Parts: sequence; structure tokens; C-alpha cells
Amino acid sequence: TAKVQGPGQIRFCTPQASQSMLEQIRLQHELFLAVKQQQFSLAYQPQLITCGAYQGQVMSMEVLLRWQHPELGFISPARFIPLAEETRLIIELGHWVLKTSCHQVRQWQLEHQLDNLRVAVNISSVQFVREDFVQQVADILEETGLPASCLELEITESVAMEQAEQVSLKLNELKRMGIWLALDDFGTGFSSLKYLKIFPFDILKIDKSFVDGIPHDQQDTRLVEAMIHLAQGQNMQVVAEGVETEEQIKHLSQGGCDLIQGYYFSRPLPPQQTLEFLLEHQLACKTPADNV
Ligand code: C2E
Ligand code: MG
Ligand code: MG
Ligand code: MG
Repeated sequence: TAKVQGPGQIRFCTPQASQSMLEQIRLQHELFLAVKQQQFSLAYQPQLITCGAYQGQVMSMEVLLRWQHPELGFISPARFIPLAEETRLIIELGHWVLKTSCHQVRQWQLEHQLDNLRVAVNISSVQFVREDFVQQVADILEETGLPASCLELEITESVAMEQAEQVSLKLNELKRMGIWLALDDFGTGFSSLKYLKIFPFDILKIDKSFVDGIPHDQQDTRLVEAMIHLAQGQNMQVVAEGVETEEQIKHLSQGGCDLIQGYYFSRPLPPQQTLEFLLEHQLACKTPADNV
């Protein structure tokens, strides 16, 4: 099997490589069918307040896409999101995630007086760079009735590599609408510091890969402390993701981290269980515009 590597370059794959390419192609095909056959669902993972009067209450939830294939079983987003991006299927999928989760959260707000519940939605750079992205978000908010202040968009550093000016315009437009902007997977990409300076993010999400090292890895522990300080200096809320132990929570909350997301409190849950979790854990009753 030959693979074009760039102008004038062709590389011949090893049998293993061509096998995995075949797998990729098969999976891409399955992905198209999955969209048609609606094999996707959503899971929600709560983010809890770490300290102060509202400690232990839910502030927000991240929505995560789930693909259950009839024969292949559960397929991780880490595997299929990149394929969906390559094929641009992510545009349709991402729109569905945004619309479905906004609708779901609005229903919970209305039916259970969870007025300030916020939902965080991952946005692929492929979606974000499209010209009509801001309008799409505005339309979905209007259709579902979800207040803009109850929506958070999670964007990774990969979004803003080029065209910083256009990205900045878009982010500011979304911010003016009242939407929260979160910088996801902080520290795993490039030029993070520049992004903090030029883009109007409200929330910084510390990546699991750093959280994992707390408290045993001194370097990770110090880096996380530094990231929290950095965010505080920019008036941003800090969310730690991938928190699994009580020790990590202790370090993070003492260090000033505002919100905790991770298996320690809850795995991502299907909608019915999410609602049960929300009803068990009182929702923070502050208005979303307040800082935690
Ligand atoms: P992410 O946005 O950084 O999401 C956090 C990931 O960490 C989720 O993985 C979540 O299940 C996992 N996680 C949270 N707490 C813990 C923990 O305590 N321990 C461990 N081991 N893992 C934890 P998931 O659901 O597999 O998603 C992986 C990535 O796929 C996401 O990373 C995000 O980049 C992408 N993704 C998921 N759903 C969507 C979506 O709707 N749209 C887009 N564009 N990307 C999505
Ligand atoms: Mg995320
Ligand atoms: Mg993340
Ligand atoms: Mg991550």
C-alpha cells in the first residue's frame, strides 16, 4: 500500500501499518453509518465546587459523546473524534451534541428548578472555524431556550494556531452573548501563555496528565500550582479534570482550584443517572454570572 506523504514523496507501508490504515478506513465508513443510524448518545460528567459556602455542589457538567457500535461495541471518542474531524462529519455530529445537550439541560432546568445548571460542550476546531459557527450557537440557544449564561464552550489550543485575529473576534462575539469560554487540556498544546493573553477565556481546564502526578510527582504538583496561580491572575475559574483521589482533591482545593471533575465524584453518566446525581447533590444556587 502506498501512502502519499507530500509533494513527490510516496512511502510504502509495512503490513502492520497498512492493516491499521484499513481499520481506519473501515471505521470511517462505520462512522458515516452511525450518524445515519443514530448510534450516538451523550454522557454528562459533573463539575463540583471545591470550597467555600457551596462546597460539594454541582456548578456545571461536561457533555461527552458516546458511540455504541452494534458489533464493535463501545468506541472511545479518542479514536473516533479525529476520524470525524478528518471526514468533517464532526460538523454534523458536533451540531447534534450542542443542540441535544442544550435541550436536555433546559428540560432539567424547567422540570426540576435547576435554573443555574450549566453545560460545557466540546467544540472541535473544524466546527469553530466555520463562518456560521456563532450563528449556529445563537440559533440553538434560541430554539432550546437555554440562557447563554448556562452554556460553556470548551476549546483546545489547537483551534487558534493560525488566524488569531479571526479566532479572537469570534470568541469575543460569543462572550458578548454571555457564553462562558473554557480553554481545554491546558498545557498540552503550544503557546498556552500567549492564548491566555490574547483570548478572552473565562475558565482554564487543567489536563488530566498533570493532575495524575499529584501529589507523588513533585514537578506535576508544582506545575499545577503554577497553572492555578496563572489563572487566578487572569481572573479565570480553574477546573481540574481527571481527579480520582481524595489526596488530589485536597491539594487542588488548598491550591485554589475552583472546580473538580473526575471519577472521584462521578464518571460521565447517561441522562437519567445524571439527573439523579443532580437531585442528590444540591446545585449551586448562585447565579452563573457570579464567580465561585
Ligand atoms: P476532554 O474534553 O478533555 O474530556 C475529558 C475526558 O476525560 C473524557 O474522556 C472523560 O471521560 C475523561 N475523564 C474525566 N474524569 C476522568 C478520571 O477521573 N479518570 C479518567 N481516566 N478519565 C477521566 P472521553 O469521554 O473519552 O473523551 C475524550 C476526548 O474526546 C475529550 O477530552 C474530547 O477532547 C473528545 N470529545 C468527547 N466528546 C466530544 C464532543 O462531543 N465533541 C468533540 N469535539 N470532542 C469530544
Ligand atoms: Mg473537554
Ligand atoms: Mg480536557
Ligand atoms: Mg483531556
